[in-house]
Amino acid sequence: MPIDGWLEALPGPESPTSSRDVADDVALFAGREHPLLPVRTVHHQVARLSAHLLGLGSAGAPGVSGAMDDGLRRALIGYSLYTRQLDMVQDRATKHICRDGCERPPLGCCNRSHNVVFSLSDIMMQHPTGLALRMGDALARLQAEEGTHHAHGAPMGERGCPYLTATGCTLHLFKSPLCVHYLCPTVADALNAAHGPEAVPFVAGMRRAANRQLERSSDFMDPGLIEAAVRMFAADGGAGNGGEGRLGGGASGNA
Ligand code: SF4
Ligand code: SF4
Repeated sequence: MPIDGWLEALPGPESPTSSRDVADDVALFAGREHPLLPVRTVHHQVARLSAHLLGLGSAGAPGVSGAMDDGLRRALIGYSLYTRQLDMVQDRATKHICRDGCERPPLGCCNRSHNVVFSLSDIMMQHPTGLALRMGDALARLQAEEGTHHAHGAPMGERGCPYLTATGCTLHLFKSPLCVHYLCPTVADALNAAHGPEAVPFVAGMRRAANRQLERSSDFMDPGLIEAAVRMFAADGGAGNGGEGRLGGGASGNA
């Protein structure tokens, strides 16, 4: 799994759970629902990211004094667990459409700005909270780290988004909220055709989330979408086990 490869490569202590802050983060997220992720996956992701974020300092950048505060660190970790589950949903449900059926090849919807969380005009118009702004800033730095790792030296951003390579998107955990929720009409129609009425709540929820103004950190995600996806797949017999067994998939597109 490429995500675990990146997590393993992150700078951090050999034994991340030796830090009290990391152990507290692991315990906090162990008590939350992650319908598509096995317990060991959540534990590993939280421990690796927590240790890494603590090492990045208060502003989410190396060399800045002071540890990253609990609120920002946990908002970023929670977002990464959410996007990992949505990535699994898209592996199964949408990436094959982007790969084989996109009406706008080769870029699709991956233009130069979809990866950006807050543009200057967003900041002026939406008045995001301090935590939301810092989250957007930290996401930009984490996108650069994750994208560089997953590109494996391939050119990124030759056309369109800076994280797009010839083989697709290099981000899994730290895509922008727009990228993780975006469904074009082609994909929405395909989901409705494949899953019937059970697709409606998922498609509508994704569109709402993609269009939502980001004022608070909680606006970055909609956990109800994961359950909507599980119900959508369950209706055609594709879900029912625990953890990653609740979804199959593995296709890779640009979304
Ligand atoms: S979501 Fe984007 S990449 Fe996928 S089919 Fe639609 S336009 Fe193409
Ligand atoms: S899905 Fe990936 S490649 Fe496409 S715009 Fe978003 S970050 Fe860029």
